[in-house]
Amino acid sequence: MIIQFTDNATIKEKEEVKSVLASYSFRTRGVITGGASYLVTVGSEELDIRKIGNMKGVSDVHRVEDDQKLVSRKWKVDPTIVNINGTAIGGEEITIIAGPCSIENSEQVATVASFLKQNGINIMRGGVFKPRSSPYSFRGVGLEGLRSFHEICSSMGIKVITEVMDNEQIDDMYDYVDIFQVGARNSQNFTLLDAMGRLDKPVLLKRGLSGTIDELLYSAEYIFSGGNERIILCERGIRTFEKSYRNTFDINAVPVLKRKSHLPVIVDPSHGTGIRSIVREIALAGIIAGADGIMVEIHETPAKAVSDAAQTLDFVEAERLFYNARATWKFREQLSLPV
Ligand code: PEP
Ligand code: MN
Repeated sequence: MIIQFTDNATIKEKEEVKSVLASYSFRTRGVITGGASYLVTVGSEELDIRKIGNMKGVSDVHRVEDDQKLVSRKWKVDPTIVNINGTAIGGEEITIIAGPCSIENSEQVATVASFLKQNGINIMRGGVFKPRSSPYSFRGVGLEGLRSFHEICSSMGIKVITEVMDNEQIDDMYDYVDIFQVGARNSQNFTLLDAMGRLDKPVLLKRGLSGTIDELLYSAEYIFSGGNERIILCERGIRTFEKSYRNTFDINAVPVLKRKSHLPVIVDPSHGTGIRSIVREIALAGIIAGADGIMVEIHETPAKAVSDAAQTLDFVEAERLFYNARATWKFREQLSLPV
């Protein structure tokens, strides 16, 4: 059950609700987010929820049986719009996030950021702490690089999304990040998820390398129940038996996540395929499937990219994708699809 308190509910009113629930052997957990104050309950006894609904200080009560409660659409039917200082993810407009796999230097950042600006895109991606399979691969420019990445972008009105790999990095990164990305390899790093729950900045949460939909939603539940409702889910392909491409982009995941959860869903066809020449089709397919936006890797000269060159679009390819993505978004609106 999820109980939402009114904005002016008193401590006494909240305690009374808790004690009624305790008398029915429900365990409760208070969740205070930027948006509201909730009580999430776990228990199996029969209880007429109207009894709670009629109590002072309660604005709404919903029965949600499974453990994906706060992220569930069973509770919140309307889609969540994540607002980042005026930029909305999950609303009427398609979200396009683009940038290199890795931040390399300030010239590269300035070139990509100007290209994005020309194309009306105001969120730039780029890793400064890179999770690499081999310890000998390029592992990112680190905090110094993040500072100049952020400085260049903010001077151009562009928001920065970058991956955080460890709790210890959060404080140092905080001032230079607009959206924290939790990568596939950390999708079930529960201490990192707990820390993301304590943040007052949005989090883009990627699906794990072999993660199920349920596992992704449970991970999102960690963040939400920790106090941060500004979560964006990301389908980035999963590991299957198929070896013809880096990952198997799971198109089914998009409408299924949209039906199960009220959170916005972004698709990442770059990691989802690993193959530059098919990124565009898969991105467009993701939009038709119901995604709220796309995140793609781009570079002025992909062949020179220090990581993920094989899946990185050049500017001509990227421009074509942006154009197609916006047209596909408009087309999708005409289809009256369920999500
Ligand atoms: C990335 O987006 O930079 C990245 C490393 O992706 P993933 O975590 O999906 O592998
Ligand atoms: Mn990459």
